[in-house]
Amino acid sequence: MKMQEYIQEAEGVLLHTYNRFQIVLDRGDGVYLYDVEGKKYLDFAAGIAVFALGYNNRDYNDALKAQIDKLIHTSNYYYNVPAVNAARKLRQVSGMDRVFFTNSGAEAVEGAVKAARKYAYLKDGRHDHEIIAMNHSFHGRTMGALSVTGTPKYREPFEPMIGHVKFAELNNFDTVKAQVTDKTCAVLLETVQGEGGMLPAEEDFLRRVKALCEERGILLILDEIQCGMGRTGYMYAWQRWGIRPDIMTTAKALGCGAPVGAFLMTEHVAANSLSAGDHGTTYGGNPLACAAVEKVLDLFESGHVLEQVREVAPYLEQRLEEVRARHDCVMERRGLGLMQGLVLDRPVGDIINRCLEKGLILINAGPNILRFVPPLVVTKENVDEMTEILEGCME
Ligand SMILES: *Cc1c(COP(=O)(O)O)cnc(C)c1O
Repeated sequence: MKMQEYIQEAEGVLLHTYNRFQIVLDRGDGVYLYDVEGKKYLDFAAGIAVFALGYNNRDYNDALKAQIDKLIHTSNYYYNVPAVNAARKLRQVSGMDRVFFTNSGAEAVEGAVKAARKYAYLKDGRHDHEIIAMNHSFHGRTMGALSVTGTPKYREPFEPMIGHVKFAELNNFDTVKAQVTDKTCAVLLETVQGEGGMLPAEEDFLRRVKALCEERGILLILDEIQCGMGRTGYMYAWQRWGIRPDIMTTAKALGCGAPVGAFLMTEHVAANSLSAGDHGTTYGGNPLACAAVEKVLDLFESGHVLEQVREVAPYLEQRLEEVRARHDCVMERRGLGLMQGLVLDRPVGDIINRCLEKGLILINAGPNILRFVPPLVVTKENVDEMTEILEGCME
């Protein structure tokens, strides 16, 4: 079949919840993707910050194949070896204490919210606890995750939400403080906002929120689903400042393509929140997904991925700063590490489509922001190649 035929059929059988780019991707190798007609693309989207190790990684593929031949699924009524190994490694790299594996990011957020509500419920027996989340945040599409997502247009058609959620402004401590009541059970934020515009939480803001939470017995939940897993040069973005949350979510690059997420918590929260019977999932933490997590964490270590990010990220920043300086339509560069954005004075859709034609895959973060979240194994040469195509498409 020709590419156009696949696309036509897709539009007839899939629910139309995305305006997709008009290509059908077929295979990947390193930082490059190929469509079904063999055209090559440099990938600066990584499947939305997922494929950190690059495509077709031999060790990763072999580990998954071996696990497929051994055992794919058991349910959580039994223990399995990959889940134990993955959880041990995830604890080590995250500095958190307890892990619950999920199938997606949204489910990790659901679990985090449930844990926070149960923690507060055990403390005072009330049923009206509130969560403070941030404007412009994104936490996923399920009802709970949507309820804490700070973009009204995503929520409105699906009201009523879970309720008792208040919104504050990232990097504006007073707006957070103003929303705190004796019913507040958690403050939830992305350490670096992704979908909302590649906007990092500032150190001072995060410190003050953390201190406020400690003072008032409120849990701090950090959503590291996009900014975690090495993307900022730290395994988790909060580690840059050592501001440990009480509960943390992770997903996207955690399985590097295997659908898996997790929420993690401190021992204190674990001992005082969810217990047997409170939460579950059929697939979550199954041997196949956990074999992926285990291998990904191994390869991060043996491949010195964090060091690589710290080396390439400043170069990406520098090149994007040059783009900003040369083009009047670029108003600002933002982001941390290999999670960068260029804020334009106009919608970025046309530029992204032109880049795609020229063999560069980019995505947006909101209508006016170009998002750069390449595989973490990207090189300076790849950055040069990207910049050249991008600038050609901005003329
Ligand atoms: C992508 C994302 C989610 C949702 O993850 P899914 O796997 O799509 O459910 C939640 N939070 C953040 C910060 C994300 O970037």
